[in-house]
Formats: sequence, C-alpha cells, structure tokens
Amino acid sequence: MSDRHILTAVAWPYANGPRHIGHVSGFGVPSDVFSRYHRMAGDKVLMVSGTDEHGTPITVAADAEGVTPREIADRNNRIIVQDLASLGLSYDLFTRTTTANHAAVSQEIFLGLLKNGYVFPQTTLGAISPSTGRTLPDRYIEGTCPICGYDGARGDQCDNCGNQLDPTDLINPVSRINGETPRFVESEHYFLDLPAFTRALGDWLATRRSWRPNVLNFSVNLLEDLKPRSYTRDIDWGVPVPLEGWRDRPDKRIYVWFDAVVGYLSASIEWARRSGDADAWRQWWQAPDSDAYYFMGKDNIVFHSEIWPAQLLGYNGEGDKGGTPGSLGRLNLPTEVVSSEFLTMEGRKFSSSRQVVIYVRDFLARYDADALRYFIAVAGPENQDTDFTWAEFRRRNNDELVAGWGNLVNRSVSMAAKNVGAVPTPGELTDEDRALLATTSGAFGPVGELLSRNRQKAAIGEAMRVVGEANKYLSDQAPWKLKEDPARRDTVLHTALQAIKDCNALLTPFLPHSAQQVHELLGGTGVWSVAPEVHEVTDLDDGSPYPIITGPYEQGQAVWGSTPLAAPGTPLSPPKPIFTKLDESVVEEEIRRLEEGSA
Ligand SMILES: [Zn+2]
Repeated sequence: MSDRHILTAVAWPYANGPRHIGHVSGFGVPSDVFSRYHRMAGDKVLMVSGTDEHGTPITVAADAEGVTPREIADRNNRIIVQDLASLGLSYDLFTRTTTANHAAVSQEIFLGLLKNGYVFPQTTLGAISPSTGRTLPDRYIEGTCPICGYDGARGDQCDNCGNQLDPTDLINPVSRINGETPRFVESEHYFLDLPAFTRALGDWLATRRSWRPNVLNFSVNLLEDLKPRSYTRDIDWGVPVPLEGWRDRPDKRIYVWFDAVVGYLSASIEWARRSGDADAWRQWWQAPDSDAYYFMGKDNIVFHSEIWPAQLLGYNGEGDKGGTPGSLGRLNLPTEVVSSEFLTMEGRKFSSSRQVVIYVRDFLARYDADALRYFIAVAGPENQDTDFTWAEFRRRNNDELVAGWGNLVNRSVSMAAKNVGAVPTPGELTDEDRALLATTSGAFGPVGELLSRNRQKAAIGEAMRVVGEANKYLSDQAPWKLKEDPARRDTVLHTALQAIKDCNALLTPFLPHSAQQVHELLGGTGVWSVAPEVHEVTDLDDGSPYPIITGPYEQGQAVWGSTPLAAPGTPLSPPKPIFTKLDESVVEEEIRRLEEGSA
C-alpha cells in the first residue's frame, strides 16, 4: 500500500438545470477514471465536488418560476446527484455550496486574505436596471468584449477569449433580460489584489511543466495583465461577507466564483467531519508530498490556474505582501490543472436553451453507462474539440465494445462453461500462451503510466489493443477445434480467461459497471469495482437534509496488476452479453429527437 495522497478536485456542476453529456465528458468521466486508477494502484484518493448553487442564473430562474433560489438549487442538486451516481462517478464526497460548512470555510478564506492585505475595499460602479431600480446581475449584461471584440461577452466573463470582465468593461452593454441599457451607480466592494500574485503565480507555473501545453500557455498568458477582481457582488443569494456591517446586509455577497472554488477545500473538510476524524483532510491539503489534480472544461481554466491559486497563496501569506497562514494552516496549490476541450453534438454547440442537448439521465435511460464512459474515454475532447455523433457512438459501441471486448469475454466464458462447467485446469503452456500472458500482464506498466499523466485516450487505446491481441490468440488457437484434445483445449481456455482477467483490470477505471459483471462471470465473488452510493444526510451545522454521493471504495478488490484467476474447478455459468448492440434505427431515432427538440 502506497502512502501517496491524491486529491481529485472535480469541477462543480452549476445547479441551474440537469447536466448534459458535454459537461460530464469534460469534468466527470476523466476525473473518475483517474481516481479509480489511483485507488487500484494503492494510492489514497480523496475525490470531492458538489453542486455550485449560488450566483445570478439561479436567482433569475427562481424569479421566473416564482420560487426561492433555494428551491431551484434543491431540485437541481438532487437531479445532478442521481445522474452523476448513475454514471458511476466515485466521489468520496459530492456535496453542495449551500451547506453551513461551506459558508464557514469560504468566510475563513476571505478573512485570511483580508488579514494578509490581499483583499481590500473599493468603491466601484454597479449596474442597475433603470426600469426596476434593481441590481442587474453581471451575467445578464451583454456587450462587446473590450479585449477580443466578441459581441456576445457577458458582464462577468467573455466566452470567446476566456477573460474575466466587469460589467463596466463591456462596450455597449445591454440587459439580456429586457434589452435596456443598464445604469451604473456607486457601490462598495471588496477586491482580490491579483497583481500582488503575479510573481508567485509565475514562479509556480514555471514548475508545472507536465501540464497539457495549451493549459499551461493559457495560464501563463493570463499573468500578463492581472487586475484586482471584485470578491463581492451586488446580489442577495450567496455566502454573506463575514464583516461587521456587511454580514447582515441582504444585497452583498461573496462572488459565486470565489466561493465555488473554495468548495474543493470545504468539501474535503466536510468529508473529514463525516468520517469521524475532523482533521483527516489535512493529509491531502497540507502534507508536502501530497498531490492535487483539478478537472474541468477549458472555459474554467482561469478559475483554477489563476483565481484559486491566488486565493491559496494569499491565505498562506505567499504573495508580494507576505503574511502568515490563516487558522487552517498553509494549504497546497494544485499539482495539475487538467482541462478538457469542448464536446459538440452533431456539429453544433450544446445548448439547453436551443435544445441542442442530451441530458445525462435521458442518455442513461436508453444506453448503458459504460457505453457512454467508453465513448468519452476513447473519443472524448481530451486534447481537442470533438464532435459527438450518434453514428460514431453506435460504431464505437458495436465494433469495439460489443465485437471486441464483449465478444472476447462472451465466447471464452461460454466455451469454458459449456465444455468444462468451471474454470479449466491448465496443462503445460506453449510459447503462444506465455506470449499472450506476457502481453496482458505487461500492459499494466505502460497503461498505468499513461493514466497517471491523464493521457486517457492513449491509455484506453493501449488496453483495447491488448484486447485485440487476446481475440487474435483465441482465433489462432481455436479451442473449438480441440474436441479431440481436451487437455490442450483447457489450457487455451484457461490462458484466455486469465488474459480476460488482466484486460478487465486494465479496463476497470473506464468501465466499472461491466468490470464487476466480468469479475463475476470469471467466477469471482464479492465486490470488484465499487459503485458510488447516494446517501440522505443532514447538514452538520444547520440540520437541513440533502443527498450526497459517497462510497466504500477501499472495499473493492480491483488492483492495478495481474491477479490470478479463480482456482480451477470454480463453477462458471453461460454468460449473458455484457454490452448491448445498437441497431441502425437508434441513430435515426436520436437525430430525429434532436431535430424535433431544436426545431
Ligand atoms: Zn473576449
């Protein structure tokens, strides 16, 4: 057992609606593959996230429905929890940003930054709607980006160039709610002194050579023009500002982005408190040799390679103004920011409003979770924008999962079950037998190396190449022609089943659901790959109920390496197919749904 502690910090899905497959291809499946691999390799993984529930879009949705923001957040939190658990995402804790614990930790970070002089008050201009007199949320102001000239930039961020903005930065700002031109009035806010971290962020990024080049280059470029960013906003829904005269004000809250990234820390602390050892989180956040990997889509890089590291540096007292760590003690910066590119669908950008979308739950109602996980791993947007098409999904499913891996398992276990009824007893191995087993057991090194560097496409490609070798072995050795030589037939079948056991371990991080089935088909008992569980809990401080995702992942038998097949004589039953072949009509049906939805 290794003593290596790895924090898997997964981007927080925003709770303004259900998540679609573009979302989970960016943050969800890659972070789970990474965590499952490291647990199998014996590392101590803490995988945390939750729903991001503050900010203006939720208040706007609540206004539209005539309900409270909390009701919108409660509803979507529950949907997202169910969807992510159904996809098999093995969070140690998936929580939410509306817990009392999260508010307290967010306020602690703010106070630590304030103590060290990295947040400061300043009067600024805030937008209000001239017709209603109400504060106009940043994201609902649209205009031309002053940096890249994109004309659909929002008051908080430009989706084209990725820069953060203030509403007053926009050229020709208009309200997205009613098209009127906002009026700007004086408003007092706290600002994060980002320029005070230019040197410290630069020094840190200079040591991050293993990052994907696009992520590193983007992050380094951000340092050229750091400006103070407003840490508080004019909004009534969010974490209160923990200062005398501010705490009870209904119109001032910590900016949603500054509290959302604190979620990685607050969720770790909540996990520790629920574990019975309230200090257990420190192993992942404070031990000098622990590692932290952050997973997200590329539109969120800035918050993970600039804003959150700046918050951590300031809390630690490690920016230009110096200082000392806050009461939690010094906190580790990210080891790596692992960002995915975008997934499009049938050539179009995902859009919930235009109904160019397939939600996770609709997908999982019609297809297996592992079929989606396989597609994302083998053909997802790991290092370039990628188009999801139903034809390609079907082809990958049918040609690779069903005809490649599923068929190998099916024909080998069928033959052993039919001819022997049990795990066969092997005789002496030939060179061909030994060569196959050397290939399968030898794959753990290179595939593990790729997984540890988040080269997941290459990793699953290599695992599937090994599956191809096993299929070729079976065709070449043709045990079905060995009726006259049952001893040799049994040796071939035993070799094939051992190779399948190795391949199953190699594929477990990607395909945890079918990995459990294959484990059982090979005569294995107990839990091989642990499924996440949804638990109903109450807030540790205020008692309100909510669902979390967690799981006893340490109980899984899966390890990263070749392990022996069940003993000869262990009964085997004829298998049912582990993957479902998809008809051509599936493609037509799904495209028809998409066209109807977006029409
Ligand atoms: Zn721009």
